[in-house]
This record gives sequence, C-alpha cells and structure tokens, in this order.
Amino acid sequence: MPKYHIFTIGCQMNQAEAERLGSLMELKGFSGVEKPEDADLVLLVSCAVRQSAEERIINRLAVLNKLKQDRPGLKVALTGCMVDEDPSAMRRTYPMVDYFFGAGQMPDFLDEIPPMILPGKPGVTAFVPIIQGCDNFCSYCIVPYRRGRERSRTLEELQAELTELVSRGVREVTLLGQNVNAWGHDLPGQPDLADLLTSLSRQEGLLRLRFLTNHPKDMSERLMRSLAELDKVCPAVNLPVQAGDDRVLELMRRGYTAGEYLDLVKRLRQAVPGLALTTDIIVGFPGETEAQFQNTRSLMEQVRFDAVHLAVYSPRPGTEAAEKYPDDVPRDQKSRRLAELERLQARIAGEINAALTGETVEVLVENQNRGRWRGRDIRGKLVFFESRMELSGRLVNVRITDTGPWSLRGEIVEGGA
Ligand code: SAH
Ligand code: SF4
Repeated sequence: MPKYHIFTIGCQMNQAEAERLGSLMELKGFSGVEKPEDADLVLLVSCAVRQSAEERIINRLAVLNKLKQDRPGLKVALTGCMVDEDPSAMRRTYPMVDYFFGAGQMPDFLDEIPPMILPGKPGVTAFVPIIQGCDNFCSYCIVPYRRGRERSRTLEELQAELTELVSRGVREVTLLGQNVNAWGHDLPGQPDLADLLTSLSRQEGLLRLRFLTNHPKDMSERLMRSLAELDKVCPAVNLPVQAGDDRVLELMRRGYTAGEYLDLVKRLRQAVPGLALTTDIIVGFPGETEAQFQNTRSLMEQVRFDAVHLAVYSPRPGTEAAEKYPDDVPRDQKSRRLAELERLQARIAGEINAALTGETVEVLVENQNRGRWRGRDIRGKLVFFESRMELSGRLVNVRITDTGPWSLRGEIVEGGA
C-alpha cells in the first residue's frame, strides 16, 4: 500500500484542508504515516501570512530535497498560501516540488474523487470551510493574493456535508472562512450567514455550531440576533481588531475606527449575553509609534477579550504595506510590545476565568489525555476534569474548581453525565 505524510502549519482553514487531503489520500488507497521518511508522497499545507511560517516550509522542503536524493520515487506536493498563480516561477524556486495546487483546490493527481465522502472516523468536533478567499485587501495581508476572491460553498453542499459528519459522530462544527460573515453574497438569492446558521442548526444530532473569522465591517445586526436566538449557535465570536489606533487602522485599510469597533462590541454584548470575545492583534505595523501602540493596549484594557492572538508585523512582498511603508519599528521594540500585550492578556484572561470558579458549565467532551478528559464549554473555554467513565461526545456538567488564563479545571457534577 502506498504511503502519505501530511505536514500542516497555519490557520484552521489549513487544518481543515489537511483533514480533507488525508481523507482523499485514503480513498486513493494510501495509508498515512507519521514520518516523511516512510512516505511515498509528502503533502505540505503551507502558510505565508508571516515570514517565519514561510521559512518553516522552506526548511522542510530542503529536508525533503535531500530525502529525494536517496529515494527518487518520493513525490512532494505543495498547497496553501505559498502557492501563487504563477506555477512556472514556483517550479524554478522549488524544483523539489512535483505538484503545486492552490489552497482549497483539488490536486490534479487526485481529481476524480468527490470531496464529500469522508473515510476514517472524525472526532467530536470538525471544521467545515464555507467560504474560500478574501476580498478585503488589508494592506499587510497576503491572503487575498494567494487564496483569490471570495467564493461561497452552496447551502445544499454544506447541508449534505453536515449531515454526513453528524452521522459519523461529529457533535460540534466550526464553520470556517477568512471572512465568514461575507458568506453567500456571491450565491443566487444572496443568502447570508444568519440564514446559513438557521438552516444548519436544524440538523438533528448536532449540538453546537461556531464560526470563524469575522470582519468587524460585516458583523450585521441580523447575525447578532441569530447568535442570540439560535440555541445551537455558541455565544463566542472572534472579531479581529488588529490595532487600537485610528491612524494605524486606516493604514491597515481595516475600514473602521477604534471607536466604531468599541461601539460594535457594546452592541454585540448587549445582543448576546454571556458572549466570549476573542481577537487578533498585530504589533509593530510600519510607523507605529509608542503612543499608537499604547492605544492598542488601552483598547485591550477596555474590551477585556477572553483571548487574543498576537502577532508581530511581518512584511509580505507584494502587499501594499510592504511595498509602500518601510518596516521601521526596531525588532527589539516589536518584541517588547508583543511581550507587554502578552502579559496584559494573561492578566485579563486570568481574571475573567477566575470569576468562573464555583460555576457549573456544560462541557462537550472531546477526548482523554493522560487520564484527564478535555472538552469545551459553549463559550469555547477549555475545561479539564477527571472521570473513569467513557464520555467522548457527551455533554456533562462540570463545576469549576481551578482556573488559569488559558484553561479551567473542575469536577464532574453528580447526575450530570
Ligand atoms: N481574516 C482574518 C485573518 C486572517 S490572517 C482577519 O480579518 O483578521 C490571520 C492573522 O494573521 C490576522 O488576523 C493577523 O493578525 C495576522 N497577520 C496577517 N498578516 C500579517 C502580517 N503581514 N504580519 C503579521 N501578522 C499578520
Ligand atoms: Fe487578510 Fe484582511 Fe482578508 Fe483577513 S480580512 S484575510 S486580514 S485581507
């Protein structure tokens, strides 16, 4: 039996993509192996959002190049955000790669396989991409260049995939896209994400629905209402702000001011009681002064996010920011700003979570790790607890006893399972 190995880095879209490719390979009669040394085909799902991610893939490719000298039969396929529209230039730069295919596209050596059939056993939770690409062109971001324009998958296709997943034991689904709340604008009749959530939440056997990521400019009142009204839709929103300073936001081309973002958060929290809010932030954007950085810090203090994905600005060739503005914030300042926000967020998340001590939360149990069960509550908080019962895929009540910034610990409540 031929063997494949998949290496993935980057966002949840890539994780979902790796799962899809794994399924396709198995349908093709390949079996998965842990080490590239044992494989006949190595698939790399790449990320180009930051230079450091790209470098990890380039290092991998160098290792594979060596491996190919000993094993000329080994084939290498590259997909994800490093693949652009000009394969001939890519072929010259990466001669060790046998196949290139764009993010979310079908590799031509596997083409006749329908994407919906999923062999193997999925877990309790699954990712489902609903929209590919991005139309926003934030000035720092490579994604629109590498993933192309927004393309929504149809409601029928998504419904069928959901039914299939649930029949295989999936209980929680996270809908994915670079900008999920733009879903549907390119489909006949222009349905929106609220329509999609309404339809999908009718699926019997499905317990929870989540979605990632939302652009603040597309966060509609309708979507807020469906978050509040649809039982299965979890009160958890990732709303990337990127910066808390108006001038920086303008140069980033985010399309809102800090004040507008704060107002949106206020409306969202009013509409959805108990909402968990997470965000993405970049420090060290070109020209970012200390005072502008402090505005980001102050926004974090005002909003008090449940979690923040922090990144240091990395110029991406071809993007507006990389072409127009020098990357002039010194590296030590970037690191200091990052560390300062990391400390701030650890304190805030620690305080938010500490307030949950003594509360009983409903946990969807995912899996067991070294004797401890692991799951999440509806807000997406990670919860660990001990039990000798087999609980995977079940909803249990857990009373929180210990908390930290990144997770909660508790005890299963009698009769809760
Ligand atoms: N669509 C999402 C984000 C996709 S990229 C959004 O609108 O926010 C994921 C995250 O990577 C971004 O939120 C941003 O924080 C980070 N990122 C993107 N480009 C970057 C760059 N050039 N340098 C550093 N971080 C970047
Ligand atoms: Fe990149 Fe902006 Fe699109 Fe997010 S919305 S993927 S940051 S261009």
